Amino acid sequence: MKLPRLPLYTRILIGLLAGVVFGILANQLGFSAFVIDYIKPVGSAFIRLISMVVVPLVFASLLVGITSLNDIRKLGRIGAKTVAYYLCTTAIAISIGLLLANTLRPGEGLSQEARTKLIQNSSEEAGAQIETGLKKPTVTDILLNIIPTNPVKAFVEGKMLQIIFCALLTGICLSLIGSERSQPVINFFEGINEVMIQIVHIIMKIAPYGVFALISAVIADFGLSILFLLLKYSLVVVVGLVLHVTIVYSLAIKIFSKQKVRTFFKGIRPAQLIAFSSGSSSAALPVTMECTERDLGVPREICSFALPLGATVNMDGTALYQGVSAVFIAQVYGMGLTMAQQLTVVLTATLASIGTAGTPGAGVITLAIVLKSIGVPLEGIALILGVERILDMCRSAVNVTGDASCAVVVASTESQL
Ligand code: ASP
Repeated sequence: MKLPRLPLYTRILIGLLAGVVFGILANQLGFSAFVIDYIKPVGSAFIRLISMVVVPLVFASLLVGITSLNDIRKLGRIGAKTVAYYLCTTAIAISIGLLLANTLRPGEGLSQEARTKLIQNSSEEAGAQIETGLKKPTVTDILLNIIPTNPVKAFVEGKMLQIIFCALLTGICLSLIGSERSQPVINFFEGINEVMIQIVHIIMKIAPYGVFALISAVIADFGLSILFLLLKYSLVVVVGLVLHVTIVYSLAIKIFSKQKVRTFFKGIRPAQLIAFSSGSSSAALPVTMECTERDLGVPREICSFALPLGATVNMDGTALYQGVSAVFIAQVYGMGLTMAQQLTVVLTATLASIGTAGTPGAGVITLAIVLKSIGVPLEGIALILGVERILDMCRSAVNVTGDASCAVVVASTESQL
């Protein structure tokens, strides 16, 4: 008898759950080293495979998308709406984090013993994170850095904002030269785009195994016991993330688009699972693009602009996490944060999350900027490093959901969904 083929989402979910169980067993029965040496590489291979398509996919699909726009002014409108949506949702995310952390006060429940243990465990690692976090360039540098001096270098180094800039400019100029000369170039990139999408389809066939390997390695390595020491803090972050997704994105979809909220969440599930298991919104980008275009019906010119930009600058989950963590660390050190300090957190966490790369663990590095701006001891980062990986997975899933919700909202307001 032939078994029915399960949908992609279900297969990935089974991989994830099996990975959790296997990881716990490995951690408890003492064969973590085996999982890390032999199973983790399967997960790494999966992530490398999807990362491989990111640069050509983003460039080709954005270029083709731009050239299909009949009106260049529309591009400005899409850009303005996207940026406005990203900024507003990020500020809301931090506010939710601050509100929860101030009312539930997770930092006050931490015992002196737990505190000493956590600091001892990770103070060295925290030192390295702080050093990198504070080495951030100025705003002028960041803006100037969007313009590549050498596009090939931008491709080689995978500098997403520079690639987006290059694709936008090339796409616009292709529309300005005669179609006789632009058409062969457009056809070429259309071909590249199709090939990349095909590669993503093939890679997704091994996604359940990749996800199994990634999750089992994380759990075998870290175990779940540290989660209990920081249970209240972790729960506040997770509750905040869930509230942000269920309230803010649902409302945005309901108010600004004709799409059913259920359809949205159903369509984006595979991307959420990949972001969750890899802890990286950049690695999940090809899957997010695929889900948003194919299952949510957002046209390519909007997906190919909003999603790569979002994977680079829009990190609502990260921002919320930074808000909660700043208040948590301040509470552990017995410091009350004034209203002015909380507003500073909203501002700096918005900027810090924009500056956070869509890679695993990037958010805890930029947290140093937020802590510094309000005078909270940076060593406090050591307190939360134990649960960092698990929370990173959760916030990455939220980050890609935010990007996709923006694409749906923008497409709807352009009557293109
Ligand atoms: N890992 C997150 C992401 O890729 C960024 C972070 O560390 O918060 O979206």
